[in-house]
Amino acid sequence: DMTLSPRVESLEPSKTMVISDLAATLVQSGVPVIRLAAGEPDFDTPKTIAEAGMNAIRDGFTRYTLNAGITELREAICNKLKEENGLSYAPDQILVSNGAKQSLLQAILAVCSPGDEVIIPAPYWVSYTEQAKLADATPVIIPTKISDNFLLDPKDLESKLTEKSRLLILCSPSNPTGSVYPKNLLEEIARIVAKHPRLLVLSDEIYEHIIYAPATHTSFASLPNMYERTLTINGFSKAFAMTGWRLGYLAGPKHFVAACSKLQGQLTSGASSIAQKAGVAALGLGKAGGETVAEMVKAYRERRDFLVKSLGAIQGVKISEPQGAFYLFIDFSAYYGSEAEGFGLISDSSSLALYFLEKFQVAMVPGDAFGDDTCIRISYATSLDVLRVAVEKITNALEPLR
Ligand code: PLP
Repeated sequence: DMTLSPRVESLEPSKTMVISDLAATLVQSGVPVIRLAAGEPDFDTPKTIAEAGMNAIRDGFTRYTLNAGITELREAICNKLKEENGLSYAPDQILVSNGAKQSLLQAILAVCSPGDEVIIPAPYWVSYTEQAKLADATPVIIPTKISDNFLLDPKDLESKLTEKSRLLILCSPSNPTGSVYPKNLLEEIARIVAKHPRLLVLSDEIYEHIIYAPATHTSFASLPNMYERTLTINGFSKAFAMTGWRLGYLAGPKHFVAACSKLQGQLTSGASSIAQKAGVAALGLGKAGGETVAEMVKAYRERRDFLVKSLGAIQGVKISEPQGAFYLFIDFSAYYGSEAEGFGLISDSSSLALYFLEKFQVAMVPGDAFGDDTCIRISYATSLDVLRVAVEKITNALEPLR
């Protein structure tokens, strides 16, 4: 009997991975592909961080740690949250996991009952909806507009909330749009949340350091009356270029953190001892990652500026200038309905992304994967030289479609 559980059957495979896999297959067969699909920094993990991991191995720091994470790391996280985010947490309010993805899943599993609604503004990061489904909760999607910089309209939020609403997921800076929520908008959202006693906020702040001045980051938990209602997610993958180390964390009210910790105790136990030592070194780099992270952010900013200018000049292309993260979410829908010679009809984001990949060897993720079919996501975590070629190819690809 090959029957699979309904839980797995109803799950969508990660679409960001589908395009990445297809691109990898092309590369393997000798076709050079410009890969702008992955959500991963192109930088190596900074040396001091990597050294701390190697030292951990040399020193034999290679055993199981406390389920919640080593005290040294949790204390360093508490200091970071205090100094950078104005949030007071004790180490027993921090749970370290194997990546923010695990932190998110555990939080959703810990607070949602079957039938609860998880409110997710679109475009959204692909795993939110699927993780909600794993908890037998119902994702409730609220579309946003490119003309609003993809920011949630508080009126739309208010109109979607019911007594079943349990969790609102916010992601700022956002994957896939790069939007950053201004403080006054978060305050407006907080006032709405305050009117719904059952509603919690899951605030995914994993891109907080990758932000372009004058935009600034506000932690949702720091807003009036929101500390008790917010589960804050953060991690080391993006700012510190540590995707392969698998290290993320949750901070929140003790009651919820303990519940997540109980889950983790049965799922995976503590994160890698080696990665945790590296995490301590990462937080030791100084405020917001110090010069090391500032240099990477400077490079991302140059790339963003280049792309916004050069792609923005193409007829019919709509862009909302991202204020953070390393993605552009571009509206190419003016080109839908075109016939491409030797390819066929371009009718949506998937067919356009496939056309870019098959005919011009540029891999990007269709917006459909993020709940917005008008757009395609470009990850600019790659060199300016590569991006220059990419822009040329995208321009050439669109040219015959006009
Ligand atoms: N949240 C967002 C918005 C992301 O883009 C990612 C990674 O792509 C994650 C969470 C998970 O990061 P990790 O599990 O590597 O910490």
